[in-house]
This record gives sequence, structure tokens and C-alpha cells, in this order.
Amino acid sequence: MAQKITSCKDVALRLQTYLDGELDDKRMDQIRAHLDACIDCGVEADTFREIKSDLGSLAQPVDADALARLKEFSARIVNEAS
Ligand SMILES: [Zn+2]
Repeated sequence: MAQKITSCKDVALRLQTYLDGELDDKRMDQIRAHLDACIDCGVEADTFREIKSDLGSLAQPVDADALARLKEFSARIVNEAS
């Protein structure tokens, strides 16, 4: 049975730090591996990246729906994970 080293909760809690590149190399690798293996977290990472690039370019307002969905997802993961 394959076991994930990093849980969805770990990823949800560290995703922003991960995308900022501020984790140590070991954690970066663990989260990268999780995002490759876990569709839910991979989609959230993509949403985060889009929001961050929107903020960076200031070309367009942040998608409010995406932000709401993101908050919902994080809350759900943190509450569900044991
Ligand atoms: Zn996950």
C-alpha cells in the first residue's frame, strides 16, 4: 500500500509558503511529489498560482469565486484530515 509522506492537510497549510519557495528543499520535494500525485491539491496549487500571477501583474482583478473556493477547500481539508 502506497502511503503519502505529506498529507492533504500538510499541503493545505503549507501551500502558500511552498509557492513562495520559502520551504526547505526536503519539504519542497515532498509537497511537489504530493501535488503530482493528488489531483485535488494539484488543482488548488494551480488556482493559487493563477491568483498570485494576477496579483503580480495587476492586469486584472482577482477572481472572487476562485478565492472563495480556495478558502472553502482549505477549511474543508483542515477539518477533515485527522
Ligand atoms: Zn492532496
